[in-house]
Amino acid sequence: MKIGLIGGTGIYDPEIFKEEERRQVKTPYGISDVSIGEFKGREVFFIARHGKGHAIPPHRVKYRANIYALKSLGVERIISTNSVGAINENLHPKDVVIPDDFIDFTKRRDLTFFDNETVHIDVFDPYCPEIRDALTKAADLTVKKVFKSAVYACTEGPRFETRAEIRMMRTLGCDIVGMVGIPEVVLAREQEICYASVCMVTNYACGILEEKLTVSEVMEIVKENQGNIKKIVTKAIEMVKEERDCECKNALKGARV
Ligand SMILES: [Zn+2]
Repeated sequence: MKIGLIGGTGIYDPEIFKEEERRQVKTPYGISDVSIGEFKGREVFFIARHGKGHAIPPHRVKYRANIYALKSLGVERIISTNSVGAINENLHPKDVVIPDDFIDFTKRRDLTFFDNETVHIDVFDPYCPEIRDALTKAADLTVKKVFKSAVYACTEGPRFETRAEIRMMRTLGCDIVGMVGIPEVVLAREQEICYASVCMVTNYACGILEEKLTVSEVMEIVKENQGNIKKIVTKAIEMVKEERDCECKNALKGARV
């Protein structure tokens, strides 16, 4: 089975496997750098979302190129890692969250592969239940506190959110906030790829505590918790079922107008 791994903040190289090949995959949406290797008998395709040295900011990530490249390499399942801010007051830095829904607050991203035909894909369960299941079990074996469902709010960035924005998101039922989850999850579904994300809480969202948010604090937590996220991802890669029984593979059935 071919598994894609999209590493977020703090995860810039695969490490968990020996890179056997690095490919620059040309797509209609730009070039995507993919590291290819093997882990426990599974072929793993790794993309660092922010590029080497974190050079690509959230609003400039080549979301379509990355998903298209993984699809063209035969990837059927994707695990992604994200750093998020906590909106829900039960969440604290270092907690692990497996989102099951999202609200999209992005403003100017390429949100679809279907610009020249009308395709409405269903996102009743936007994150693949089978990958979520594997990530949840893997997280339970690794850290004490795992939140098994959550609503992910995606903002455009690159600035942090205002207090009023977080207040609004909280009222709307958002639990965590980040800048890169959308459109990745949607684009994967459009390509009928299973996709789920493991999120690490790195900070309280703006105004949840009466403090200013600083990048250095966020990065410190990222550094402290990289090990755990990598452990969760590696266990999940082993646990993901070989055969797909979920509906992700049929996303385009009946979706065209
Ligand atoms: Zn699936």
